[in-house]
Amino acid sequence: MHGKQVAIIGGGPAGLMAAEVLSAAGVRVAVFEAMPTVARKLLMAGKSGLNITHAEDYDRFVTRFGATQDNVRPALDDFTPDMLRNWALSLDQETFTGTSGRVFPTAMKASPLLRAWLKRLHDQGVEIKTRHRWTGFEGDALRFDTPDGNVLIKSDAVLLALGGASWPKLGSDAAWTPWLREKGIAINDFEPANCGFDVPWSDFFRERFAGEPLKSVALTSNAGRFEGEFVVSRHGIEGSLVYAHSASLRDALNNGETPTLTVDLAPGRTVERLANDLARHPRKDSLSNRLRKAAGLSPVKSALLRECMPNLPELSAPEMAALMKALPIVVTSPRPIAEAISSAGGVDWRDIDQRYMLTSLPGIFVGGEMLDWEAPTGGYLLTACFATGKAAAKGMIEWLGKPD
Ligand SMILES: Cc1cc2nc3c(=O)[nH]c(=O)nc-3n(C[C@H](O)[C@H](O)[C@H](O)COP(=O)(O)OP(=O)(O)OC[C@H]3O[C@@H](n4cnc5c(N)ncnc54)[C@H](O)[C@@H]3O)c2cc1C
Repeated sequence: MHGKQVAIIGGGPAGLMAAEVLSAAGVRVAVFEAMPTVARKLLMAGKSGLNITHAEDYDRFVTRFGATQDNVRPALDDFTPDMLRNWALSLDQETFTGTSGRVFPTAMKASPLLRAWLKRLHDQGVEIKTRHRWTGFEGDALRFDTPDGNVLIKSDAVLLALGGASWPKLGSDAAWTPWLREKGIAINDFEPANCGFDVPWSDFFRERFAGEPLKSVALTSNAGRFEGEFVVSRHGIEGSLVYAHSASLRDALNNGETPTLTVDLAPGRTVERLANDLARHPRKDSLSNRLRKAAGLSPVKSALLRECMPNLPELSAPEMAALMKALPIVVTSPRPIAEAISSAGGVDWRDIDQRYMLTSLPGIFVGGEMLDWEAPTGGYLLTACFATGKAAAKGMIEWLGKPD
């Protein structure tokens, strides 16, 4: 393996994990990154608490990848959540499991982990070339736009770890899709995943309540019923509870359907109890007071109820109670991909072999979010990026080691 040189394009979690595995095996590795610094999305992920993996039962963990679980499973088997936590520990980053089963580094942020990781890569001889934007193929070379102009680079193998299409300002802008499509690679269109949705709020509701969280609620769609919280935004709704439904809502909207999303504003109370409590409360009291005192609704929950049901004051106590337990919210479209946490779509699995090599472009491998898999938030995304980065690196080692 010594003497072989590989180019990794994209310095996110997938590319850096591949760099670690390859350099540990004695391969000379250069990472080319378009931005002035690497791993900007990883650092951004750490701003709200870096949820690196999930502690639930492993078989259940794998099901979170839905229709693509069979594709991702071999890579996950070789970099399980436990192995990921041990890897973080090897970089002096202890982890803990939050109440929901989500796993975070004790430091919560990504920066200490990234610092230690980059030091390890440096010690293993990995060269990182920032401000090198890959702009396509030129013959059997890779063309880069750099501060010194265009440069052509050749290597024994290439890993593309260019990320998906969400938050393009952090670097992963999916500009590469035409260059691979020209080579006959099937790329399924990128779509927002783990995203918010537009809801046609009234001006009053938007101005008064945008940014307010609805805590301790349950949302139900075709994806199932999940409890948690979500946030009213200027455009509609967002937050982890909405993201759990986003694939199902997006796919229904794409199919021309009107998906149903219902909110239970009081998961701890039965409809009968709510109806009784509302009926007992004096009717002469204002509606706001009845909703607050009898049903325990916060101002934003009451306002959502009134927003979605303008005729609320005319309803009986049992009718109001029924709505509190299953209030329909009309979502009209997903928010743009640039705002989504992640993206669905990307390189079709049928075009790569079990080594993560593009079957029609021998020596060119892919890993991370640019592959077509999808998972909810909860640490699944990063786990799969690390795992597929490792799997692609092992595939490259196997391919580089083959007799000529
Ligand atoms: C706000 C936010 C919060 C998140 N929080 C979490 C979380 O808590 N837990 C979790 O599991 N996931 C989270 N994610 C998702 C997770 O960060 C991504 O899934 C992951 O970073 C993808 O890794 P990747 O290596 O495939 O791609 P990326 O991290 O996107 O890295 C790809 C790299 O390739 C570079 N690149 C792209 N094109 C070129 C080119 N032409 N030439 C050279 N370089 C190029 C980019 O600049 C980038 O550095 C979050 C995402 C966002 C946006």
